[in-house]
Amino acid sequence: MIDSKVTLNNGTKMPWLGLGVFRSREGDEVVNAVKYALNIGYRSIDTAAIYQNERGVGKGIKESGIPREDIFLTSKVWNSDQGYQTTLEAFEKSLEKLQTDYLDLYLIHWPKGEKSIETWQALEELYLKGKIKAIGVSNFLIHQLTDLQKQASIKPMVNQVEFHPELVQPELLEFCKKEQIQVEAWSPIMKGKVNDIPVLKALAAKYQKSPVQIVLRWDIQKGVVTIPKSVTPERIKSNAEIFDFELSEDDIAKIDNLDKFKRIGPDPDNVDF
Ligand code: NDP
Repeated sequence: MIDSKVTLNNGTKMPWLGLGVFRSREGDEVVNAVKYALNIGYRSIDTAAIYQNERGVGKGIKESGIPREDIFLTSKVWNSDQGYQTTLEAFEKSLEKLQTDYLDLYLIHWPKGEKSIETWQALEELYLKGKIKAIGVSNFLIHQLTDLQKQASIKPMVNQVEFHPELVQPELLEFCKKEQIQVEAWSPIMKGKVNDIPVLKALAAKYQKSPVQIVLRWDIQKGVVTIPKSVTPERIKSNAEIFDFELSEDDIAKIDNLDKFKRIGPDPDNVDF
């Protein structure tokens, strides 16, 4: 089901599928994408302060008529706002733009060494006050998670990372599974490029699905939450048609074998922005 959920390590339930809105333009474009997705059954939206479309996301949610409490809303604190006090302030700004008084998930967008420890303290405080249902990180490698956990009182509930057939990161997946940190995939369909990969085209023919749907289904069967982005109604709809079939273990292994350790985005060990 489109709104089926995984239970995070603190008991919060998070949909397996969400709508990503990176590069969805502020204004009508993002408002319409969010409204359309919610109206066809999506119940999770992934934004961030840096995407500069939180107002539109908030408007889309309001105009959809879906009760706020039925929606899982994620935002992220941007690098220049990291630190204790600045994070508290950034969080309030996000709430104001999103026209809400709580978030379901708030993430540290990128690891920034010691600074991220202070950021985490702010997230813990907001969580304990009940202003965030779940807190987590994004783009953290194993060593960065380990460093954080040494100083954290609360374990992250989610790690949102670049994850797709050419960047599988089995060790990170294994580590997060062991630590009960839910992995969430960004750029899950490689910005649409999965449609050109022959192995995925063959699987698409076999299952009567598109390569994009094959990959999004693979995410879920690997236990990874997925948030494909689209502002195109037909794509938003077809990206959600992944709950009516199952990939075999052999076919999952075929997709695993496409791994090239190839990043589309920045390397979390070299964050210079
Ligand atoms: P995706 O892999 O989700 O690809 C999005 C692109 O693919 C868009 O150009 C979209 O076009 C196109 N597309 C969508 N559906 C289809 C389809 N069925 N067939 C062909 N093309 C399609 O990339 P993103 O980088 O956007 O990642 C997803 C989300 O992850 C982001 O939106 C954001 O929420 C999050 N993210 C988080 C990051 C982090 O650092 N934490 C970094 C990057 C992303 P169109 O919209 O025109 O339909």
